Amino acid sequence: VAKNVPKIEYVPTICPYCGTGCGLNFVVKDGKIIGVEPWKRHPVNEGKVCPKGNFGYEFINREDRLTTPLIKENGEFREASWDEALNLVANKLNEVKAEDPNKLGFYACARSPNENIYVTQKFARVACGTHNVDHCARICHGPTVAGLATCFGSGAMTNGFDSIMQADVIFVIGANSMEAHPLFGRKLIKAKQNGAKIIVADPRYTPTAKIADKYLEFKTGTDVALMNGMMKYIIDNDLQNTEFIKDRTENFEELKEIVSKYDMDKVCEITEADKDSLIEITEAYAKADKAAIVYSLGITEHSHGADNVMCTADLAMLTGNLGKEGAGVNPLRGQNNVQGACDMGALPTDYVGYRKVADQETTDWFNNYYGTNLSTKPGLTLVEMMNAAHSGDLKVLYIHGEDPVLSDADITHTKEALANLDMLVVQELFMTDTAAEADVVFPAAGWGEQEGTFTSGERRVQCLHKAQDPPGDAMLDWKIMEQLAIRMGEDAHPEQFHYETSEDIFNEIRECAPIMAGMDRKRLDSPEALHWPCLSEDDPCQPLMYTEKFSRPNGKAIFMPQEHRGPVEVTDNEYPLLLTTTRVLFHYHAAMTRRCKTLDNEVKTGYIEMNSEDAKELGILDKEIVKASSRRGSIEIAARVTDNIKRGIVNIPMHFTECAANMLTNSNSFDPKCKMVELKACAIKVEKME
Ligand code: SF4
Repeated sequence: VAKNVPKIEYVPTICPYCGTGCGLNFVVKDGKIIGVEPWKRHPVNEGKVCPKGNFGYEFINREDRLTTPLIKENGEFREASWDEALNLVANKLNEVKAEDPNKLGFYACARSPNENIYVTQKFARVACGTHNVDHCARICHGPTVAGLATCFGSGAMTNGFDSIMQADVIFVIGANSMEAHPLFGRKLIKAKQNGAKIIVADPRYTPTAKIADKYLEFKTGTDVALMNGMMKYIIDNDLQNTEFIKDRTENFEELKEIVSKYDMDKVCEITEADKDSLIEITEAYAKADKAAIVYSLGITEHSHGADNVMCTADLAMLTGNLGKEGAGVNPLRGQNNVQGACDMGALPTDYVGYRKVADQETTDWFNNYYGTNLSTKPGLTLVEMMNAAHSGDLKVLYIHGEDPVLSDADITHTKEALANLDMLVVQELFMTDTAAEADVVFPAAGWGEQEGTFTSGERRVQCLHKAQDPPGDAMLDWKIMEQLAIRMGEDAHPEQFHYETSEDIFNEIRECAPIMAGMDRKRLDSPEALHWPCLSEDDPCQPLMYTEKFSRPNGKAIFMPQEHRGPVEVTDNEYPLLLTTTRVLFHYHAAMTRRCKTLDNEVKTGYIEMNSEDAKELGILDKEIVKASSRRGSIEIAARVTDNIKRGIVNIPMHFTECAANMLTNSNSFDPKCKMVELKACAIKVEKME
């Protein structure tokens, strides 16, 4: 036997990028992660991965990982001991808590394991006495939670990912799965091979549109009108599922009345869609035995995102496409654990398991469980916290692993708000754009450096395992929370933050969230894992929901018809183009993927995609550096001239600080139902540079 041959180990984990939740194995040598191998037995990705899954581990052992706490003095960071940094933050939290706990705010991290997120929201509530806790779902799938929970009683995907392969027709609207959720995109291709007809409606002729049997181009922000037109056509032509409507839904008459105003001619005027194509896709969807709707941020990131979501639910109810395989309403969640972050109660309105803050009995239950005295008044959303910081009403913001300076609408507004705080605390892996604005930075353990669970977009709760130690003095998130609670003193209930293992935290989650009560850790630790709802240890926890009844109190779904409102900011002579923001295949936001050399080499910077006719009118050539401006600011960026985008619409990928799309977007246009900001539509102009 050869001596001194380094031992290679394989440690199972789940991809930390999109909500598809692919299984990977870390390749570990001498206690360090040196690569990943796709997990062949994993039911979601079956041994395949996309480029992010393949190369997205490269950030882990970079030299610029944060390894020690940092305190800012005179505008510069200096290294500090954990003791000094923790005491500084604990004292400030106590000082502001004594004045008014609702002047404290917390962002949880949707990339982090469930156990960290649970403890973060518990820290906000139990140690600090505020419900001001939220996370980035607010500006990605907040409308999904609000919209689907209203219609069905639960705000998640109705079917599992594999269900799509049994569909006869798949209607994809506002989702570019081939780039944003590539291994789900692979299931679309498999569905097509099984005979499914794929329809894609999008203002851009995306890689997903290119695999479609039918592509429908329409104008950004007109989804409600489009779907209302489809529903009117279905009712007028008696294509609805009358039995399903009668037995399993309520409020059909109101739907009928509202959609009756949307005849095809009016709809095509609003949406600029081709009428024959719209009729063709409507008939295909309505006549199919099993028709699935797939959507993502093209539906949600609007000032009427919840309306859009409710229209997808109405369309599925109208045609009886719920509670069966090959059908359903299937939102594709963005971040790897954004589903989990919602489930864990990192929401100002909900405790863990979607138990409502406003409900007295529920809050009494949690007060009894935690030994607290929490109120039933919901806290501030992420958008409201940032606005409160801007106006001076929020004093301390504690951000776990999010980068709002890059990802929130209107960067200038975000930076002004952060600068206005008494203290900004950021818990991170790297010196992100947001961490650079902080007063105190805590170095956190990252992916591969801890045990825990992620919950994918299909409600599958999967285990992750530790493959290496965190670098330097970086610490587990939940241990940082415990250390802070100890330093804050008895009123912060430090005993509530003492756990030996992440499994202890998971077991507490099971006690507090009936939807996960049956998730014994041993049952979870298999490639199939478990989907919630999982009510008991003998519950098979099937991914398909609503086979017999919906999660609303009376067991019925409710139609929630909506009127078309369109984007808040419309184009005019000064700002004649409508900007939408998107992602590219090789990046996922920026903090991690731009630090992965292989991914960074693929797409090094941003660009503005514009229709060739629009470019011609402005005298702009492909690759030319142009100036893009909105009412909020300007950026310089390379033009990408193409016919794959509708005239009048321009697109900028959101990952790149040096030409940040969110310098232009509008933070003043949010959805009244869920406080989503309109990241997918604002008016801009594009000019040639001098
Ligand atoms: Fe990771 Fe999503 Fe790619 Fe799967 S599809 S490897 S989860 S980024």
